[in-house]
Amino acid sequence: MGIGGLTLGGGVGYLVRKHGLTIDDLLAAELVTADGQVLHVDALTHPDLFWALRGGGGNFGVATRFQFRMHAVPHVLGGMLVQPAIAELIASFIAEAESAPNELSTIANVMTAPPMPFLPEEIHGKLIVMSMLVYAGEIDAGERVIAPFRSLARPYADMIKPMAYPEIYPPEQVDYHPVAAGRTLFLDRIDRRVAEQLLDHLTTSTGTLAYAQLRVLGGAMARIPAADTAFAHRRSRIMVNLGALYEKPQEKSLHETWVSEFAAAVKQGDEGAYVNFIGDEGADRVRAAYPGPTWKKLAEIKNRYDPDNFFRLNHNIPPS
Ligand SMILES: Cc1cc2nc3c(=O)[nH]c(=O)nc-3n(C[C@H](O)[C@H](O)[C@H](O)COP(=O)(O)OP(=O)(O)OC[C@H]3O[C@@H](n4cnc5c(N)ncnc54)[C@H](O)[C@@H]3O)c2cc1C
Repeated sequence: MGIGGLTLGGGVGYLVRKHGLTIDDLLAAELVTADGQVLHVDALTHPDLFWALRGGGGNFGVATRFQFRMHAVPHVLGGMLVQPAIAELIASFIAEAESAPNELSTIANVMTAPPMPFLPEEIHGKLIVMSMLVYAGEIDAGERVIAPFRSLARPYADMIKPMAYPEIYPPEQVDYHPVAAGRTLFLDRIDRRVAEQLLDHLTTSTGTLAYAQLRVLGGAMARIPAADTAFAHRRSRIMVNLGALYEKPQEKSLHETWVSEFAAAVKQGDEGAYVNFIGDEGADRVRAAYPGPTWKKLAEIKNRYDPDNFFRLNHNIPPS
């Protein structure tokens, strides 16, 4: 995965609650536009483009340079925690993650346990909660913040330890290209009832691995007004990615139907979607990435910089 698409769509990482989205640290970009100009874009120079680049994806040109604000992150307390998939635990995990200080960002993956050597054999193929926690602050304080997560249930594996921040990212497996049917959405709450719904649906998948990935948002990301950037989901509370991995291409429609029904069943009031997690799902889903006035403003900027829709092989925002 590259920094180009990640940044232009928003960028949700392990520091999202502490430092916000990747775009919240974007200071400037160099952009090659449809008519071949090379523009320096920042808050004062082409401010309309600067707004659009922060969430609007590759619709406005090719970004050839980014300038970011840096944050010192000398170390983190972080790693993987694997626990049983029980509705009560999932609901409590989310509640803890929501009330934790912004130094903590989490990803809870409710998923089929892969046959990994550090997991007991008897749980392989059963549902587990494989979560990633990152506390970006003092280690002692982090231990206190993470303790309630550890005590939710005796872990199958606990790999949380002090580390340099880059260690949280495992090396990319270049030969691993799983095929997935996935849907992204935002939820307002995951209480025990919603957690039960997630578990019930996950058990009905016939894929090789089914998952519901839950990311509690808020913190620094939510402090910026939604209208300030083309990424407009600042108030969304929990980002959820549902999916199933599968091997046989002829099973595509089966798993796509499963995941669409799953998303429809758990959907709450938030109709938005994060553009970087949308697949090839049609124009309506791209529209969902840019709610309210965001879409209209993006289309106006597209008219100005790419009226012929030269940059269209993307989650496309056509000129109006
Ligand atoms: C395994 C995996 C994990 C992920 N985890 C996260 C995550 O934790 N958080 C998150 O926010 N996202 C995540 N993503 C989604 C990721 O942000 C998008 O897939 C993003 O598009 C990847 O960027 P890329 O540069 O590799 O894009 P590419 O696949 O190369 O391109 C995708 C699109 O981005 C645009 N684009 C890319 N580079 C440029 C450029 N320089 N100028 C103009 N347009 C450009 C183009 O429209 C292009 O079609 C994940 C994706 C994968 C596959």
